[in-house]
Amino acid sequence: MVEVLSNPLTPLAIVAGGLGCAVRAPWCDWLAPSVYRGDPRRKTLALTFDDGPSESTPELLDLLDRFGVRATFFMCGANVRRLPAIAQEVFCRGHEIGNHTDSHSPLYLKSASFIEHEIATAQQTFEDVLYFRPKYFRAPFGCRWFGLSAAQHRHDLLGVMWTVIGLDWKYLADQVARRIADRARPGGIICLHDGRGLTVNPDIQNTLDALTWALPVLQNQGYQFETISELLCQTNQPAQSLITDETSSIE
Ligand SMILES: [Zn+2]
Repeated sequence: MVEVLSNPLTPLAIVAGGLGCAVRAPWCDWLAPSVYRGDPRRKTLALTFDDGPSESTPELLDLLDRFGVRATFFMCGANVRRLPAIAQEVFCRGHEIGNHTDSHSPLYLKSASFIEHEIATAQQTFEDVLYFRPKYFRAPFGCRWFGLSAAQHRHDLLGVMWTVIGLDWKYLADQVARRIADRARPGGIICLHDGRGLTVNPDIQNTLDALTWALPVLQNQGYQFETISELLCQTNQPAQSLITDETSSIE
């Protein structure tokens, strides 16, 4: 103990570690209210897709239809303005839509006014294009920052993190598929991508291939797929326990 207290780097390391956890850890809601999973007693999963809509999104919608799966799409406002018809198609085909900021800029080290502008501009775009305001928010790169909590509160948004991140922007399809299948647990939220930031015409073939392999595997194991609203609505646990419980499958 004496050694710990006499080392001036130790408190700094603790503070840095705590801040890193608050910014990045999916289960941590210190910087903004969030959930990262549903009820672990129900054999359900929520597929979530970030960074869309993109020119590749319709192919993903067809794939999800083939397996009878509805998902949640965290869209960027700028992409919605670029591809409004595809955003509307996602909504009209029964999927849920959440806010993933306007420009997909990372929020860490940014001012409260920057964060507010990113969220507000995207919310206005959803209202203009889809005639509703999302109630769920996912921070780009999963990074939260000071000022986000107040912005979420102003726009009535709940943060949504994940239990499994597919790393589909950098891994091959078989690696992504294995990550999803191996790490899926009841009540889990899986994070994948139908875009790549604001990139025009992104290649998401590895995401499509990974799902083509993983979805029947998970369905054969008895998993049901739900939107985020359904996953949380069906949850019998108090919200607080969903936020603070420890989990072994976090990425
Ligand atoms: Zn993103």
